[in-house]
Amino acid sequence: MGKRIAIYPGTFDPITLGHLDVVERGTKLFDKVIVAITTNQKKKPLFSMKERLVLAKEAFKKYPRVEVDSFNTLLVDYAKKKRCKVILRGLRELSDFEREFQHAIVNRKLAGSTETVFIMTSAKYFYLNSSVVKEVASLGGKLDCFVPKAVEAALRKKFRK
Ligand code: ADP
Repeated sequence: MGKRIAIYPGTFDPITLGHLDVVERGTKLFDKVIVAITTNQKKKPLFSMKERLVLAKEAFKKYPRVEVDSFNTLLVDYAKKKRCKVILRGLRELSDFEREFQHAIVNRKLAGSTETVFIMTSAKYFYLNSSVVKEVASLGGKLDCFVPKAVEAALRKKFRK
């Protein structure tokens, strides 16, 4: 049997401990998890693609079965290129569900063999997303319980007056 690979796509602007938790769980189910960062200009990211790549790579440097990459095409096309049929996503509150349901169905329509697998967040990261982290950072709040060290430093630098 070939290697079981999953792609975990997202904006990761920036990567948080919630994302790390999903990936960690993912590595228990798959031989390899590819953290795939999308350009996502619609969201007007705070961090450039280069910065997001550096921060994600730093966060997963101790995980030999995690690869960090970027893509700017349709997700299903990227998945085909990587010869991967599984898309991994995290789920938190109910509002995630509606959006994720839509994405999963559209991706299945675009590429019938693609399967989306959801991993439920830990209770302690239920509230956590990149937007909240950026808001706290912009107001000078503490960040160590939300993001890895390198991300904390990068956020401080961005918001330094
Ligand atoms: P996107 O813009 O594609 O939603 P994000 O970087 O915001 O990208 O999120 C990537 C994935 O990680 C999504 O599936 C999202 O639901 C999931 N995710 C984000 N934060 C958490 C968290 N705290 N717990 C579980 N899943 C999360």
